[in-house]
Amino acid sequence: MHNQTIAELAKGLQAGEFSSQELTTAHLARIKQHSGLNCFITVTEVEALAQAKIADQLISDGKAGPLTGIPLAHKDIFCTQGIKTSCGSKMLDNFQAPYNATVIERFNQAGAVTLGKLNMDEFAMGSSNETSFFGPVKNPWDHSAVPGGSSGGSACAVAARLAVGATGTDTGGSIRQPAAFCGITGLKPTYGRVSRYGMIAFASSLDQGGPMTRTVEDAALMLQTMAGFDSRDSTSVDKPVPDYSTGLNDSLAGLKIGLPKEFFGDNLNTQMAQVVEEAIAEYTRLGAEVVEVSMPNINLSIPAYYIIAPAECSANLSRFDGVRYGHRCEAPEDLNDLYIRSRGEGFGSEVKRRILIGTYALSTGYYDAYYLQAQKIRRLISDDFKKVLSEVDVLMGPVTPTPAFGLGEKTGDPIEMYLSDMYTIAVNLAGLPALSIPAGFVDQKPVGLQIIGNYFDEARLLNVAHRFQQETDWHQQAPAGIE
Ligand code: GLN
Repeated sequence: MHNQTIAELAKGLQAGEFSSQELTTAHLARIKQHSGLNCFITVTEVEALAQAKIADQLISDGKAGPLTGIPLAHKDIFCTQGIKTSCGSKMLDNFQAPYNATVIERFNQAGAVTLGKLNMDEFAMGSSNETSFFGPVKNPWDHSAVPGGSSGGSACAVAARLAVGATGTDTGGSIRQPAAFCGITGLKPTYGRVSRYGMIAFASSLDQGGPMTRTVEDAALMLQTMAGFDSRDSTSVDKPVPDYSTGLNDSLAGLKIGLPKEFFGDNLNTQMAQVVEEAIAEYTRLGAEVVEVSMPNINLSIPAYYIIAPAECSANLSRFDGVRYGHRCEAPEDLNDLYIRSRGEGFGSEVKRRILIGTYALSTGYYDAYYLQAQKIRRLISDDFKKVLSEVDVLMGPVTPTPAFGLGEKTGDPIEMYLSDMYTIAVNLAGLPALSIPAGFVDQKPVGLQIIGNYFDEARLLNVAHRFQQETDWHQQAPAGIE
């Protein structure tokens, strides 16, 4: 059962071939069996079985939707009522959210089952899942490699068939990069498409939740539930949600694909480039037209992001003060001691580094030199995208410069770590939708193809990606020991 997709399982459930309780029990057993991968921070066995029971009732009453009874798991950044929501941090190790994130609420209403909460980089800051307080996650394809981050637990759980689908969040690549490293499909929607209410904030102008699944067809089903206006999120966009499944098979004849030449420079490992080029050749066979485009400012994405994201995080994380909730130090001497020790003990070193950089960049005298400059660059990058996306329908390129790197390989060098997001970050700065689909292997490790679209053009992205999965079987491969 665990090798089936959401779409296939939904049919099986509705035809009465198995129950959601059986499906959920099977997945809970797999989670135990593969606990060495360290994907889950919390497994909600009792709640999952209770949800499955309700789902079975809905199915037998003929009230089931496409996600009813499907076992999913959520990145531990989404608030779940009465269930630990740690955000991968010691700071929130003792935190049980008093309410559900909108995304969680919507999955509950759709009758989906939540298996538990997934491991992640602390406060979503990282590219390898190694900044998690709960320890690193292993890449199911190679246990000595990282799964990517920050949604590393999500990508690993889906690739290892421990959950049929998962949620992730993407501030600078955290859905697409781990999806690429683990050989699954990951979609980062347009900024404002999916509610951020109850999604613990890292960099509010960049954060966006999205689905991580084995197939594009499943991503469409999950996005259908996640997307839509939410009055509780002031940046949520009030725009109708199209049906993401109907156009999946539309013809790609005449599709115009732009290849940003900056994505194919010296940084890209030659074998990676070959995989991406072969994937693009598949599109030519499907009738698409490929042109080279240029985005001259895109190489400034990493420096701009590493001012803007830390600036926003330094403001967002000021709420974790040991007073309201989260970790509090023992026997504080006075208020200052309480703040200093609670934050000093609760946050890990990457989070502290970002808070320091962000506070510095926002301080008087430096604001104009750093933060304002970074915002100007952000505009130039958005304008680059605007120009090329007025000439082509979608952009394609690599997701990462290399396949999954080794555990511990980059932890000593933050800049090296930051560079692994060099092809994903610009999309967040511009607020565009993009996805990663499996496109091949290098050194027996999965490689992703990135497809970037125009604002709110998720349906087209899904169509373009789905057609590729109809022609290839990269997305159907399973890591050894997982089948
Ligand atoms: N790796 C990037 C960072 O560390 C992006 C993280 C993310 O998308 N949440 O900030």
